[in-house]
Amino acid sequence: MKRLVVLGGGESGVGTAILAKQKGYEVFVSDKNEILNKYKKVLLHNKINFEEKNHTENEILNADVVMKSPGIPDTVPLVVKLKQKGVKVISEIEFASQFTKATIVGITGSNGKTTTTLLTHHILQKAGLNVGVAGNIGNSFAQQVAEKSYEKYVLELSSFQLDGIESFNSHIAILTNITPDHLDRYNYEFKNYINSKFRITKNQTSEDYLIYDADDKTINNWLKENKTEAKLVPFSLEKELKYGAYIKENNIIINLNKDEFNMPTSALSVKGKHNIKNAMAATMAAQLLKVRKQTIKESLEDFEGAEHRLENVSKIKDVEYINDSKATNVNATFYALECMDKQTVWIVGGVDKGNDYNDLLPLVREKVKAIVCLGLDNEKIKNTFGNVVDIIVETAGAEEAVKVSYKLATKGDAVLLSPACASFDLFENYEDRGRQFKKAVRNL
Ligand code: ADP
Repeated sequence: MKRLVVLGGGESGVGTAILAKQKGYEVFVSDKNEILNKYKKVLLHNKINFEEKNHTENEILNADVVMKSPGIPDTVPLVVKLKQKGVKVISEIEFASQFTKATIVGITGSNGKTTTTLLTHHILQKAGLNVGVAGNIGNSFAQQVAEKSYEKYVLELSSFQLDGIESFNSHIAILTNITPDHLDRYNYEFKNYINSKFRITKNQTSEDYLIYDADDKTINNWLKENKTEAKLVPFSLEKELKYGAYIKENNIIINLNKDEFNMPTSALSVKGKHNIKNAMAATMAAQLLKVRKQTIKESLEDFEGAEHRLENVSKIKDVEYINDSKATNVNATFYALECMDKQTVWIVGGVDKGNDYNDLLPLVREKVKAIVCLGLDNEKIKNTFGNVVDIIVETAGAEEAVKVSYKLATKGDAVLLSPACASFDLFENYEDRGRQFKKAVRNL
């Protein structure tokens, strides 16, 4: 019997354990921290051995294969030891993919993964396909492979999950964009992070497709210097393309076959240039899976968008409140500010991941009437924007930030929470930040 050890008893770890047990592995789950009760219950119910608040090396180093949760860096001593010993260390996505023949649409990129994943899933579901959604979203891929019989999956893939693949392949891969992120996990080398993202295409064959942003310099440079077997399917907001998706007179035009796809951008349910790109990518994935144009259009019109991503919360005294808590880097906030068509009170700040705010200066000068800082250390924000925005106020919680914004905004303005930073100084995570913001707005 093969022994599989799972490092990390969270969603992907517990899913892997269930699937591995079902497939006849001897399974052991080890978590250095406390395992959440909901997961402990599942492990007990499935009679899976586990430990918490400890890694017992003797129980781990004898594994035939180890599934490491995406949150654990490759550099922790235990993982280094395993690799030195020649033990295979893989990700949940790799393990689960070995037990399904489903067609995979794999989506990665620095921003837009969740939105594009949900949108693609929405279209395929509306087309009546038997399709699951997993990856960084909802129930783990592994658990779904164990319990469901989907013929297709749309998977949101982080670079950490891609780092742990060997034979995993996406029939259709989408690479939304690449901007610097998570560099702490990549030895502070952007090139390592880029290579990690491009692992999405490493097992693709000439039967497979890589949908990508042709306006993204980083992606283009990689494609010039490296090879992929996949058919390249570009999308662009900047140039007309003979093959792929582009914009002409505010219409999305797609030429993947003789039957041109054509839809006004104003009909999309989600707003902003970035969402036009996400819609182009999702549409092309659906077209490659033979979904009818009419079904795609209807899906693009009634897609509800994802929580915490430019989510309209409320309109109070003719002021719009928008929750973009998921904007945890500068690039995401760039797109949020870009699509604001009102004078904006901008709530920003948190844990800075080495941010360079200069790209935002023109947009801030044009659209931002006041800045409300929501973080413990706001020096960089004050230094960068002090000369272009008259009012900069520091706050230390969502409720205070919302109350201050309420006072600063006047009829016709918008209040936008788009922090460009991680949330861990004042909040549990970005969801918590978004929820607290929404609650405070509703209490106004
Ligand atoms: P991810 O899952 O990659 O973090 P999300 O869809 O959750 O992406 O969006 C994260 C943030 O980035 C949100 O603030 C959203 O408005 C913004 N965003 C969404 N799509 C894009 C895109 N294609 N380019 C840049 N920013 C985007």
